[in-house]
Amino acid sequence: FNNELQRSEKMDIISELAASVAHEVRNPLQVTRGFLQLLQMNTDDKGREHLKIALEELDRASAIITDFLTFAKPEFDKVNKLNLAQEFQHIEGIMRPLATLAGGTITINIPDNLDIQGNSSKFKQALINIVKNSIEALPEEGKIHIWAEQNEKEIEIHIQDNGSGMTEEELKRLGEPYFSNKTKGTGLGLMVTFRIIEALGGVLEFKSKKNVGTEAVIHLPAADPQV
Ligand code: ADP
Ligand code: MG
Repeated sequence: FNNELQRSEKMDIISELAASVAHEVRNPLQVTRGFLQLLQMNTDDKGREHLKIALEELDRASAIITDFLTFAKPEFDKVNKLNLAQEFQHIEGIMRPLATLAGGTITINIPDNLDIQGNSSKFKQALINIVKNSIEALPEEGKIHIWAEQNEKEIEIHIQDNGSGMTEEELKRLGEPYFSNKTKGTGLGLMVTFRIIEALGGVLEFKSKKNVGTEAVIHLPAADPQV
C-alpha cells in the first residue's frame, strides 16, 4: 500500500513536469522548423534529403506532444464542475480551423445545462484527440456532428463523422498504444483518451462502418446538481 501511494505521488510529479516541459518545448521546435526550412533553399539534393528527414522527425515530436499535452497545464489534476457547453466552446475554437483546412464542417449542439465533474485540461485533451481523428478521416465535403444529452444521471456525448470508417479488426484495436494506420500517426491519441475517460468515471465506445463513417459515444456521470 505504501508503495502504491509513493507511485501515485511520483505520477503526479511526472504529469506536472511533462505539462510544463510541453509548453516550453513547443516554441523551440517551431523555431527550429523555420530555420531548417530556410536551409532547404540553399543546399544540394543530398542536403535537402537530410533536411526532409529532420523536418519529419521534428513533426513527429510535435505530434506526440499534441496527442498527450495540447491543454496540459501544471495544475494538471484539479477537479472542478465542468460545464460542457463552455468546454466545447474552447474545443471548437481549436478544431474548427483544422476542419475548415481539411474542407470539412463541424456542427456542435451542446445544451447549456450539462455539467460533469473533472479536470478541464484532461477532458479537452480527450475530446480533441477524438475530433482530430474524425477530421483526419474526412472525405471531401466531410461532416462532423457533435451533440450531447442527459439521461437521468448519465451524460452522453456523440462525435459522429462521415469519414473513412473502420473495419471490425481496426475497431478492436482502438486504444492500443502505437496502433495507427496513418503515415504520420503516433498511435497514442486514443490510448490517452481512453485513459482520461476512464479516470473521469466514464466509458468510451466506438461504432464504425468502413467507407461510411464513425461515431464515438462517451458516457459520463453527470455532476451532482447539489454540489
Ligand atoms: P493516430 O491518430 O496517431 O493514428 P489514434 O490513437 O488517434 O492514433 O488513432 C488510432 C487509429 O484509429 C487511427 O490511425 C485510425 O486508423 C483509427 N481511427 C480513429 N478514429 C477514427 C475515425 N474517426 N475514423 C476512421 N479511423 C479512425
Ligand atoms: Mg489521432
